[in-house]
Amino acid sequence: MAPSELIGCLGTGIVAAAYIPQIRHLVKEHCSAGISMNAYALWCVASVLFLIHAAMIRDLVFVFVQIINLMAILAIVICVRKYERQMCLTHLQEAQTKQR
Ligand SMILES: [Zn+2]
Repeated sequence: MAPSELIGCLGTGIVAAAYIPQIRHLVKEHCSAGISMNAYALWCVASVLFLIHAAMIRDLVFVFVQIINLMAILAIVICVRKYERQMCLTHLQEAQTKQR
C-alpha cells in the first residue's frame, strides 16, 4: 500500500469514527434533536457525486470513504425518521432552558 493510500485509509477511519457518537445517541436515546435533514440530504447528494468522481478516476480510498459516508448518512436519516420529534432528557432540558 502506498503512503498516500495509508493516509487516506486513516482519514477514512476518522470519518467513520466521527459518525459513531451521533448514531449511538440516535439509537440509544431515540433522540433526533439538532439534526438537520436538509443538511444530511445535501451531504448525501455531495457524497454520491464524490463517489461517482472517485469511481471514474478509480481511486479506491475515495470510493471507500464515500461508501462509508453514504452508509452513515443512510443510518442517520433512517433513525431521524424513526425518532422524529423525540428528544432525550438532556436535550429536552436544554430546549426548555432556552425557552425561558
Ligand atoms: Zn439527545
